[in-house]
Amino acid sequence: MKLPFFLARRFVASETVDGTLPVARSLSAEGLHVTLDLLGEYISDRSLASAALESYIELIQLIEASNRASMEESNGSTGSTVTIDHNISIKLSMIGLKIDESFCYDNLVRLLDVAKKYDTFIRLDMEGTDVTESTLSIFERVFPMYPDHVGIVLQAYLRRTAEDVDRMCQLNARVRICKGAYSEPDSLAFQKMSDIRERYLEYMQMLITQGKYPGIATHDDILIRETKAFVRSQNIAAENFEFQMLYGIRSKTQLAITAEGYNMRIYIPFGRMWAPYFSRRLRERKENVFFVLKNLIRR
Ligand SMILES: Cc1cc2nc3c(=O)[nH]c(=O)nc-3n(C[C@H](O)[C@H](O)[C@H](O)COP(=O)(O)OP(=O)(O)OC[C@H]3O[C@@H](n4cnc5c(N)ncnc54)[C@H](O)[C@@H]3O)c2cc1C
Repeated sequence: MKLPFFLARRFVASETVDGTLPVARSLSAEGLHVTLDLLGEYISDRSLASAALESYIELIQLIEASNRASMEESNGSTGSTVTIDHNISIKLSMIGLKIDESFCYDNLVRLLDVAKKYDTFIRLDMEGTDVTESTLSIFERVFPMYPDHVGIVLQAYLRRTAEDVDRMCQLNARVRICKGAYSEPDSLAFQKMSDIRERYLEYMQMLITQGKYPGIATHDDILIRETKAFVRSQNIAAENFEFQMLYGIRSKTQLAITAEGYNMRIYIPFGRMWAPYFSRRLRERKENVFFVLKNLIRR
């Protein structure tokens, strides 16, 4: 059964690119950075993976075209032009990781060629533990060819992550650190929030001091406060890292952090395949479920 889109609207910008670009532009006008995520995951059919690759390529081109159009429009007018960051987040399982790793690698290289041409940064989201190692190893193969155009995500809840943080710092790769959103067993992932936070803070410090422009992705006040305190204590400038949050979650806090002089990037999901993303957001926080129920009753 397909759920109606209005349920997900708080967390998903639109079902189409055309509906999403104005959202990205208005967040950019408020001083926020953005990354666009065409939703979908775990594709098991080659032709669908190839179609997803074409959609990612088209997204890069549409961001470029939309920025060009708004620059032309504002030519002659006195106001400054707002452009959308050339920055997208993708999932390797969308372009064939679960089908055949070499097929996925070839698809990623094709995408990164386009990304380089349009000076676009591609973040490889991290998925479940069935693909952690394959995601990292494909990343390590492409990174030397596209060091300025590709980055990775690590999840603080995984028991393996200390080594992966080290591995990515050695590479000097851009890492987004997040807690981790998938259900994983105790043998692979810490389950207690206090353990996850402790690891997160350790990795945040490593990435800020030894890594390259890390993304500190969280809505958690404790982690945000500790990150600010750490950079202050080490005299680390705000331009050396960025905070990241999800579209529709803590919008006022996103602006408040930007007003303090920090970079804040908003992850904007869109597209018709929003159900798994939506259900992860509901599972994460009971207030998100209440919000959806409230809107349901209001209609
Ligand atoms: C930009 C971004 C990209 C991500 N990419 C990935 C990825 O590639 N792979 C992956 O597995 N996961 C990803 N995630 C999801 C991530 O792993 C977590 O599941 C998710 O961020 C929830 O953890 P949290 O630290 O944000 O807050 P939570 O653990 O949900 O909440 C912790 C505390 O934060 C505060 N808080 C949280 N939400 C709110 C709210 N709405 N209002 C007020 N207070 C609130 C509360 O104090 C709460 O107790 C990403 C998250 C972000 C922000």
